[in-house]
Amino acid sequence: MTTQADLPPMRTRVTDLLGIRYPIIQGGMQWVGYAEMASAVSNAGGLGILTALSQSSPDELRKEITRCREMTDQPFGVNLTILPTINPPPYSEYLDAIIDSGVKILETAGSDPKEFTTKAKAAGLTVIHKCVAVRHALSAERAGVDAVSIDGFECAGHPGEDDIGGLILIPSAARRVSIPIIASGGIGDGRGLAAALALGAEGVNMGTRFCATQEAPLHPNVKQALVDATERDTRLIFRTLHNTARVLKNAVSVEVVETEKAGCEFEDIRHLVSGARGKQALDAGETDGGIISAGQIVGLIDDIPTCKELLQRMVRDAQAAITGASAMFGETDDVAQVA
Ligand code: NAD
Repeated sequence: MTTQADLPPMRTRVTDLLGIRYPIIQGGMQWVGYAEMASAVSNAGGLGILTALSQSSPDELRKEITRCREMTDQPFGVNLTILPTINPPPYSEYLDAIIDSGVKILETAGSDPKEFTTKAKAAGLTVIHKCVAVRHALSAERAGVDAVSIDGFECAGHPGEDDIGGLILIPSAARRVSIPIIASGGIGDGRGLAAALALGAEGVNMGTRFCATQEAPLHPNVKQALVDATERDTRLIFRTLHNTARVLKNAVSVEVVETEKAGCEFEDIRHLVSGARGKQALDAGETDGGIISAGQIVGLIDDIPTCKELLQRMVRDAQAAITGASAMFGETDDVAQVA
């Protein structure tokens, strides 16, 4: 669904691998990665991703995949995340639903993807594994994934426990991993895309930035809270439980951090952090009602465009940033300015 006015496609190993126009991927997001979100990103020329565990059962996921197919004829993927959870879902049944629905792209995240990669690859899927450390990227590469998304400490959700920002993590991965790298965490504009490419990535993964778009299936209050937040308005919860998650600063996340500081077990904060409570807050637009995932990129979000406007702007601004920086090389009387 592109028009004459669209910017020309970009070409990287990521666009070739996924069959997309621009190397911009909407990462899996709990309670956001529904058909409305994924299809909007895919229709804009990126890769939209449905979140498997936002569906209450593998059969509901099958229906959501069908719904997404009705909303886009472009490629889209499905995310399957394995992390500590209050009610462990039947992961392998969700994987079966993904495979037998004919989805072509799987994004795994959380634990070692080996078990799922083997099965998904045998079924002919392309697998992207999202991870937070170079050692995990290397292990995913050995397990046969096609690309890795590498998540810097700026990211929303679970950044791991090593606290390495993207400026170091992405080139470290690019130096050691042979398969294409997708930079994730802290990216939401053209400068971020340009920087990711310069650091050795061949695509970017964005979550929080896509939450502040017209098509994101979120209450307007939540989108406005992301616009209003500055780069200082995230908090790290679950640090003491070694399951760190970066979320929006609000009454609930502040209470969780304070409770953890005083020393607590998961059971002491469970009522505050449960995904069901977070979903209710998102649906009702109660921005102090539950945990809302958000990355430090909130500091650079100041509008709520359509996905198409966002992608076109990012591609245009990335090219301008790279062209501006290129002019700083070589002899010239003019002092170059980065766009
Ligand atoms: P949930 O209600 O089971 O748990 C809420 C939060 O508490 C999650 O961040 C979870 O990791 C954490 N948690 C649960 N038990 C824990 C424990 N014993 N120790 C430490 N932390 C614990 O989560 P949910 O929101 O219903 O999500 C269901 C599943 O989807 C979880 O596994 C969650 O981690 C995962 N998830 C997926 C995505 C995605 O984008 N695909 C994003 C966030 C979470």
